Amino acid sequence: MKNFKRYLVTSALPYANGPIHIGHLAGVYIPSDIYTRYLRMKGEDVISVCGSDEHGVPITLKARLEGVSPQVIVDRYHALNEKAFREFGIAFDIYSRTSNKVHHETATEIFKTLYDKGEFIEKTTEQYYDEEAGSFLADRYITGTCPHCGNENAYGDQCEKCGTSLSPTDLINPHSTISGSKPVLRKTLHWYLPLDRYEPWLRKWILEDHTEWKANVYGQCKSWLDQGLQPRAVSRDLDWGIPVPVEGAEGKVLYVWFDAPIGYISATKELTPEWEKYWKDSETKLVHFIGKDNIVFHCIIFPAMLNAEGSFILPDNVPANEFLNLENDKISTSRNWAVWLHEYLEEFPGKQDVLRYSLCANAPETKDNDFTWKDFQARNNNELVAILGNFVNRTLVLTNNYYEGRVPERGVTDQNDTAVLDEIGKIKENVENSIETYRFREALREAMNLARLGNKYLADAEPWKVIRNDPDRVKTIMNIALQITANLTIVCEPFLPFSMEKLRGWISFSEKSWNKAGDKDLLKPGHLINKPELLFDKIEDDAITRQIGKLLATKKSNETASSKTPQGKEPVTFDEFSKIDIRTATILEAEKVPKTTKLLKLKIDTGLDVRTIVSGIAEFYNPENIVGKQISIVANLEPRKIKGIESRGMILMAEDKDGKLVMVAPSDTVSNGSIVK
Ligand SMILES: [Zn+2]
Repeated sequence: MKNFKRYLVTSALPYANGPIHIGHLAGVYIPSDIYTRYLRMKGEDVISVCGSDEHGVPITLKARLEGVSPQVIVDRYHALNEKAFREFGIAFDIYSRTSNKVHHETATEIFKTLYDKGEFIEKTTEQYYDEEAGSFLADRYITGTCPHCGNENAYGDQCEKCGTSLSPTDLINPHSTISGSKPVLRKTLHWYLPLDRYEPWLRKWILEDHTEWKANVYGQCKSWLDQGLQPRAVSRDLDWGIPVPVEGAEGKVLYVWFDAPIGYISATKELTPEWEKYWKDSETKLVHFIGKDNIVFHCIIFPAMLNAEGSFILPDNVPANEFLNLENDKISTSRNWAVWLHEYLEEFPGKQDVLRYSLCANAPETKDNDFTWKDFQARNNNELVAILGNFVNRTLVLTNNYYEGRVPERGVTDQNDTAVLDEIGKIKENVENSIETYRFREALREAMNLARLGNKYLADAEPWKVIRNDPDRVKTIMNIALQITANLTIVCEPFLPFSMEKLRGWISFSEKSWNKAGDKDLLKPGHLINKPELLFDKIEDDAITRQIGKLLATKKSNETASSKTPQGKEPVTFDEFSKIDIRTATILEAEKVPKTTKLLKLKIDTGLDVRTIVSGIAEFYNPENIVGKQISIVANLEPRKIKGIESRGMILMAEDKDGKLVMVAPSDTVSNGSIVK
């Protein structure tokens, strides 16, 4: 493996149209944070950059929906996410934003360089144009009928009902979501990056030179390359973004996927005047942390852009993760199906490390994984509390009890003592190897093995029994337990920074250098420790029940919202309407129709007569509760036999979105037989 002089760690720029959720954290930010903290502890020259991605159509759509400017949307989510990351301990050196001037300048410059070098091709295509609004329409701004499933609200890029990807011209009866008008096709000029030109080079660079990349990343790149690369547009007709810096490109901006990854460069520029050594020196190791939906952009498009530009380094690795699901369902911002970071921080104050731990232990590194609140609780109670917390607490309490908080001398060690002390160094190496190969779950498990080792050592050595007969032996045992504790503050630091800071305080220990881990004498005899508190608290069932209840409420409200208001009907003439004889009436008797679940047999006073009507409302009304109730009926509906009973007329009901039926009744008492018109 090549030895690098410095590291540049980037984390996918979160889109500034919604808050951060656990899927983002498990996929990108926790792994990048562990990696960065580890490198810093090793004393490496490392910077970690991130920021808000503030351009693109979804932001303009949300702004339009709320009736505000896109700037209001990005300001809101930039502030929210920046704060949430900071409170969660994600250790970026800079959290920038792509609406910054420095980013506009950097992206413009890179586009110009490629343009001047003739790296783009220009193509005129036909695109939908809204004549009323006077603008071209992004795919998401066009809706129409899906040609595959008939969904009338399919988008120009995708039908969300059947999941088919579409292009706007596939839609039947398209209309603009801006004005509602029918869009027309118009010619428009765009710039394309001819990815096909880079295909041979990409094949070698990825498929031959980077066989060490994660299987999911390598596999996806291979499949893209095997399908053959096509020229890809780098501009869009839109009024929000970075203007295309070419004459005659009025009303066009850089495609958000051209400008967003350049955001890493701009953020580095903003952070340090020495930015070029991180981006242009082959002694720098560049690592992109992303989710799997971004693989093509970071492994194919962005490298092709940088290669075309010519002066930048390329990523050494792109350790993309798969997706995290929530309680067996895909996380979704639009369906509010997520655990939002800013809400977690409020609802579980001081428990950043519990979420960091459970998301890392369950990270979707090789396949999609599922987050459940029960698992979160079990990770806390059975691992953090029972293993790590328990070991630390025992060690510190016994040290305070036996030696008034002074680290005792280590006397003669037996074979087991030596084996345990040697094991510390091995665990450190295992954690190191796992982190450097981007296997963070494994790294965390190894770090926890140090606490497991300590627990087992104490359980086997039983100092609380030995103290009665052999106090000298106990000094050796406790010295070893304390060395393990001090080592824990180092090897667990990248994963659990909040708890390790507490623990360092309790043992009056400030060493954070990674290379000190494995040392068997971190705490010298006579060193004074403080009184400990509990490192982790048990999470009780009611906290978990509350969270699950919150999700169930979301599910219910989604179900209601997704059943849309039925479409309006064809117009009728007044004469046609007048033919229907709607009258007020009163229910005299009501009983269930035997052997049915839905039907009630009602005896009705219509003012004209007393008659029987069978109605399918038994699921919603108890017979005994509706006797005497005034209602509206269709009096002249042709009689029909239902379950052998002749039903003469129909009771008017309103059907709610969830299928619930409610009687339509006069708002005040009127005489039976009054005409409703
Ligand atoms: Zn469809």
